Amino acid sequence: MPGSLKKNTALGAVPRPIHSELKSRRIVWEKEHPVRWSFMKILRETSTLKQFYPQINPYTEVYPVRDHVWALYNDSFDGAGDVWMYLIEGPKRALLVDTSFGVGDLKGLIRHLIGDKELIVCNTHAHYDHCYGNAQFDRVYCHRNEVPDLMTKNNPDIWDYLFNNTEEPVMVWDERVEPGKPLYTDFDRHDIIVDRDHRETYRPYEIVGVEDGHEFDLGEGWVVEAVLLPGHTPGQCGYYDRHHRILFCGDLTGIGQRKPQSPYSEFCTVEALHDALIRLKPRFAQIDGVFPGHGAWDQSQLILQYLLETTERVMANPGNCDSVQEMIRDGKVQQSMTKNIHQWTALRYSPQRVFRKQVLKSQSQDSLIP
Ligand SMILES: [Zn+2]
Repeated sequence: MPGSLKKNTALGAVPRPIHSELKSRRIVWEKEHPVRWSFMKILRETSTLKQFYPQINPYTEVYPVRDHVWALYNDSFDGAGDVWMYLIEGPKRALLVDTSFGVGDLKGLIRHLIGDKELIVCNTHAHYDHCYGNAQFDRVYCHRNEVPDLMTKNNPDIWDYLFNNTEEPVMVWDERVEPGKPLYTDFDRHDIIVDRDHRETYRPYEIVGVEDGHEFDLGEGWVVEAVLLPGHTPGQCGYYDRHHRILFCGDLTGIGQRKPQSPYSEFCTVEALHDALIRLKPRFAQIDGVFPGHGAWDQSQLILQYLLETTERVMANPGNCDSVQEMIRDGKVQQSMTKNIHQWTALRYSPQRVFRKQVLKSQSQDSLIP
């Protein structure tokens, strides 16, 4: 969900800025998460890991995280969480996890890192911040539950929401944004590789849905496995690099809001996430690092255990949350609850989306309405 155009930060404080040489400049900041922010600030401002190739892609920072594995950083372009993509280079093929917003030449940067090796492109899920660079590639893989949503993103109109599309200037935080200019993060719209001005050049990419457990072969026995971890979206999928024993998990901690009639809606529930974690649990101890779509990476496998325990506590008593917010959606008051995850962040969920049967029941009620 995009950030708010009204200043809206924890304690009313603007997050401590993180300085960078990127061509993007945030106007709307995400709320400062204490642990995440410290990690990002130290990593990006002072660590010696950072590589930056502004002549190829001035929007992306590159961090080697293992031999032949990189984390690629983009500022968020819509006021929400800053984004990580990951690139794994195997002996014969490379695999890219997510494509972020598609601002700047992602493909050129990857070619710089891995040469002309064959590249497999995968998405964790079909949200703005993870899949809008897909259009720079010919074919993209995702879990099959995610295919319907990804199809709706395969067009050149997807970037419109980033701009002030009115005739008037708009005040965003303390800044005046002129018509046609970016609302959330300032950047040059011509750096969208395919944008409105180049509409005729948009070529839809091929979408290939895969099953849970699908194996991507990077050569010489190096396998990356798709691991369905739904809840945030129906086909939210992690990718497990068996060679390095690291999991690129995507977004796990917000259960998605979704119309009950939408395909695979019952996967956007706490229960669906819980069941997927139970399936993965026998392998938690093998995982030597968890790399999420946002925030601190190379986290302990304990975050998976603590997330699993949180889903169990929610399912035992959905109303017993740590915070509740009310909002109006489609004319109805809806509640968004959070339950804290031990030593990590919080699981956000709606009390209507804890169990699959709640969603399936409202689907069958909807189908009775003529
Ligand atoms: Zn995300």
